[in-house]
Amino acid sequence: MPPPSAAQAPDPPAKKPAASGPQRAMERLGLRRPIDLALHLPLRYEDETQVVRLRDARPGEVVQVEGVVSQCRVETARRRQLLVTLRDEEGQSLLLRFLHFYPTQQRAMAEGRRLRVRGELRGGFFGFEMVHPAVKDAEAPLAQSLTPVYPAGAGLPQAYLRKAIAAALPRAPLHELLPPDCLPPGLPGLRDALNYLHHPPPAASLRALLEHHHPAWQRLKFEELLAQQLSQLEAKQLRARHNAPALRGGALVEQLLATLPFQLTVAQRRVVDEIAADLAQTQPAHRLLQGDVGSGKTVVAALAAAVCIDAGWQCALMAPTELLAEQHLRKLVSWLEPLGVRVAWITGSVKGKARERLLAQAAAGEAQLVVGTHALIESQVQFRQLGLAVVDEQHRFGVAQRLALRKKLAERGLEPHLLMMSATPIPRTLAMSYYADLDVSTLDELPPGRTPVVTKLFELAKREAVVERIAHEIAAGRQAYWVCPLIEESEESDLKAATATHAELAAQLGAERVGLLHGRLKPAEKVAVMQRFASGALPLLVATTVIEVGVDVPNASLMVIEHAERFGLAQLHQLRGRVGRGAAASVCVLLYAGPLSESGRERLKAMLETGDGFEIARRDLAIRGPGEFMGHRQSGADLLRFADLQEDAPLLVAARALAPRLLHEHPAAAHAQVQRWLGSRAELLKA
Ligand code: ADP
Ligand code: MG
Repeated sequence: MPPPSAAQAPDPPAKKPAASGPQRAMERLGLRRPIDLALHLPLRYEDETQVVRLRDARPGEVVQVEGVVSQCRVETARRRQLLVTLRDEEGQSLLLRFLHFYPTQQRAMAEGRRLRVRGELRGGFFGFEMVHPAVKDAEAPLAQSLTPVYPAGAGLPQAYLRKAIAAALPRAPLHELLPPDCLPPGLPGLRDALNYLHHPPPAASLRALLEHHHPAWQRLKFEELLAQQLSQLEAKQLRARHNAPALRGGALVEQLLATLPFQLTVAQRRVVDEIAADLAQTQPAHRLLQGDVGSGKTVVAALAAAVCIDAGWQCALMAPTELLAEQHLRKLVSWLEPLGVRVAWITGSVKGKARERLLAQAAAGEAQLVVGTHALIESQVQFRQLGLAVVDEQHRFGVAQRLALRKKLAERGLEPHLLMMSATPIPRTLAMSYYADLDVSTLDELPPGRTPVVTKLFELAKREAVVERIAHEIAAGRQAYWVCPLIEESEESDLKAATATHAELAAQLGAERVGLLHGRLKPAEKVAVMQRFASGALPLLVATTVIEVGVDVPNASLMVIEHAERFGLAQLHQLRGRVGRGAAASVCVLLYAGPLSESGRERLKAMLETGDGFEIARRDLAIRGPGEFMGHRQSGADLLRFADLQEDAPLLVAARALAPRLLHEHPAAAHAQVQRWLGSRAELLKA
């Protein structure tokens, strides 16, 4: 919420803060050094550069007028207030109303005084009036520039902040770091830009300022985007100094391609080539493979693993949930074991003797491919020679976990190659900024024979009708998921809801036809339920969001999501991606309970309007903003203060083009640029 206008609501005199209060309030906002203050930019501006005539003014406008006090009195009838009548040169009058006031104020507005007042003009019962206008002596010089209104907060008066910022501006170290020929044309110098933004001339375009299009704003955003690009490039260069084993595929890759039950799509072939080229380098690969749900990333991972194993190195594949890891395992085993590859499996639930045996196999290099959950990065898990680490659904892992996997190479001085996979496509601008140090491969094609999923929206009141429909479809041999509401507060209540729904549907459709899957089941139980569902024996699976990622049962063609309004957009898209994997026409039913919040409505609307993961990601970004979208990478705080990735894509492109040249030709300036704009936050970006 913007702070109240200084003109309309002066700080109530009764609550005057202690002497050091504003200073402390300023520090709480992080405004300590001159540079911090210089970069604290106005939310909006007030125009105190001109005086208007009352007869030209309209009610509702914020105006500055001058006149002589014709009457000044304290009224006590209903509520004690100070009423001052002002008459301008043309005889028009204006009533000023003060509900709080000091005796000194009353004296300053004595009859006969010439005053300049500023505030919102209201059409009151007695003609024009202003409540709590800002009052000055009419002799005071008019402002030469627009008056900034800053984001402030309790205990920090605008006047105090204005003074502090005006004093800090000339002292802030704002010397140009960038060689002049590096800047996009038409942008002002940095110091000029900031002076302009804090104190724009009377004729400035308020619109360009408020919408951040003005060249002064552009300059600032460019600086910031450039710093971000540079910091990512620095990280990339740092990584390039590390060594990795050069891995080249051979017979195994050929055999796998020949025995797969399908042909690769053109997109799959392309990304496999891109990844193979990475793996052949002696620098650790750092690649993101993104592709919409169902685009076929697993087989790409299998081929990358085959390259690695062909070269005589081990490969690790890490998935965020046990269910998904287990599913990968089955698929990879079915593809690779017939070719003689030894596959092992390490998760939290593999215990005792079995665990020891697997750990020994990994450490001895006997296990060529190790599939598992985050248990893979525990310190006891050692590899003899890890050549490639694949992280599926990488956004589910923290930065630290991915880094830990990279350190899993017993051989000193070598790092494994890293391939990350994600079904949440990253919008182009985010990919270019936050992931600028990643190489990105994109699967932009779905395997053939898929029919798009039809999405339908129903109010929860129609639930019974949906259940009837499901019964009908199941009778016709179809399979369905029923995803239960996500209840933020506790896993316990999630479970209750799923259990209750399961009981209810089992009663209606027959217990032997309805399975239940949730996070609290024992791993063996989960596997058993999944297997019954995958084999077709179980027509309906009631589940919590444990099925959100990776679950692949091509025969399932119906998805019901209860309380869809409680799910995030990316999550809904992932869930919907569980169907539409086979040849059958698939339907996704979103059941919602109103009233919908603004963002809830936006999310459901997006689901109805598009099935394209990139479009979904773009909308998700628009709804949530980059901070939320990026999740753990930013620990909540937006890293970009000035630039907006949606609007400033052209500046981002320019910054991206300039960064390598600057780093190469002016490394010291490049480093200073990163420090100035990102400081300690630069580390976060590199992780
Ligand atoms: P995701 O990218 O969501 O991880 P999967 O790897 O689970 O997708 O693949 C989805 C389904 O498509 C799987 O059943 C997989 O075996 C199948 N598949 C993958 N590539 C092809 C292809 N080129 N032709 C036909 N089916 C394929
Ligand atoms: Mg997958």
